[in-house]
Amino acid sequence: MKLLDIYVYGSPLLKRKTRKVAQLPDNFPQFLERMYATMYDDDGIGLSANQVGVDLRFFIVDFSLHDKNMRKEVFINPVIIQREGEDVLEEGCLSVPEIRETVTREWKIKVRFENVQREVIEKEFEGYLARVIQHEIDHLNGVLFVERISPLKRSFIESKLEKIAEKGKTQTEPISI
Ligand SMILES: [Zn+2]
Repeated sequence: MKLLDIYVYGSPLLKRKTRKVAQLPDNFPQFLERMYATMYDDDGIGLSANQVGVDLRFFIVDFSLHDKNMRKEVFINPVIIQREGEDVLEEGCLSVPEIRETVTREWKIKVRFENVQREVIEKEFEGYLARVIQHEIDHLNGVLFVERISPLKRSFIESKLEKIAEKGKTQTEPISI
């Protein structure tokens, strides 16, 4: 299977809010398979559509990588409807390779989203899983985790970010599914 290109820091697509999903394209299941293959290849646990150049509001996760009782899940048009508590943990991102920083996020969230059958679901997540979902929804809103760290920490990684942006700046064209 041909893997998708990961859009990295510096790409304008990662700074823009994605479009709400209306009708799903016919080849959506096949596209999801390519997204999963791309995510596994890079050891990711979550991947948003705009990270592979698609301007649509959905992301994928595979929580079985974290807890074998859980599974793969697709979140279409997700919205956080409840937030509770606080949690600080280190994060990384396939679009910001080789950089890890601690980020403060909510400990527990309730998310409303649609699954691939377009059923509306509301579900609560805690801890690490809640963090992954917040990270991916940030992506869909055009926010990267390095924008959630202190200006001082940010200044330490600025030159690395500029290096990554050399590639990202060339990734200006969205792809269609
Ligand atoms: Zn990310």
